[in-house]
Amino acid sequence: MRELRRKCSLCGKEAVVYIPYQRRYYCKEHFIEFLVNKVRSTIKRYKLIRSRDKVLVALSGGKDSAVLLDILLKLSSYFNFKLAAVHIDLGIGNFSDESREIVKEQTKRLGVNLVIVAVNEILGIDLTELSRKARRPPCSTCGLVKRYLLNLVALTSGASKLALGHNADDIMAYSFKSFLTQDLRYISKLGAFTESIERLAVGRIRPLYEVYEFETKLYARLLDIPVVKSRCPHFRPNQMEIELKKIINDIEQERPGMKLSFLRKFMRNLKEYPEIKGRIVPCKYCGMISSTGECSFCRITRKVFGKPMGSKVKEYMNKLLKDKILWYS
Ligand SMILES: [Zn+2]
Ligand SMILES: [Zn+2]
Repeated sequence: MRELRRKCSLCGKEAVVYIPYQRRYYCKEHFIEFLVNKVRSTIKRYKLIRSRDKVLVALSGGKDSAVLLDILLKLSSYFNFKLAAVHIDLGIGNFSDESREIVKEQTKRLGVNLVIVAVNEILGIDLTELSRKARRPPCSTCGLVKRYLLNLVALTSGASKLALGHNADDIMAYSFKSFLTQDLRYISKLGAFTESIERLAVGRIRPLYEVYEFETKLYARLLDIPVVKSRCPHFRPNQMEIELKKIINDIEQERPGMKLSFLRKFMRNLKEYPEIKGRIVPCKYCGMISSTGECSFCRITRKVFGKPMGSKVKEYMNKLLKDKILWYS
């Protein structure tokens, strides 16, 4: 009996995985097909991609974004969209060097065009120095710089969607954390997508919204997708997130499919949570999105360099992307 149960539920070949919420075993081929189909359903369910969209995938070098790119490429003709990738090189020593080489390899293997934006080249200093001079923790500086640059590359390259690699476990842990800390306004940002704002922000999508972390891990391993081995030296594990993921997975084990059902209901209820409202106005220095008339990138660079650097970075980006054939169809 035991032998039999380890065969793929679809073809009878040797199984590599059991998916409890489906009560199915899959062989390598059928697991890959299953996961690609799962992402296709997510895209349809939340209308993440439309025909003729230009989808820019943010690659970090990690497994989630690499798996995202691989799966989106497989779905690009089905949904009829174009694809390109972007990587922000933060200049954090070996970690960034390795990440840069890995994303080059990831995109070369798939034949997808890649834009690399190096913080060092734009500002003359790396992320570590920027955060030190701005007297801000590296991770929050990194988040701020990445958000600004990714949005800028997306706008400059004519992308209609920016695709991020967050998976179901990430989203659930973030939303539980927001609840525990009662930072409820953050919850409204945790949906499967955000809308574009004309000339100011490109809409973000999370096609791995319903994909479990163990599924991206297995997919990357089965397809030998290259991923970064080293860790950012600034990385500090968030104990609360780790604990929450553990608890969530314990409950999932008892009640397979709980995560999926949570995320779908969560999306329906998203409007009920308080939104981060406030003005949306173009930054007076660079014209990018802000709430006060000065965007956070211009504010932090003004603090460090004595003048806001947004418009200079915008110029740089225009040159970098000018005449570049980016979009893969
Ligand atoms: Zn099979
Ligand atoms: Zn600005």
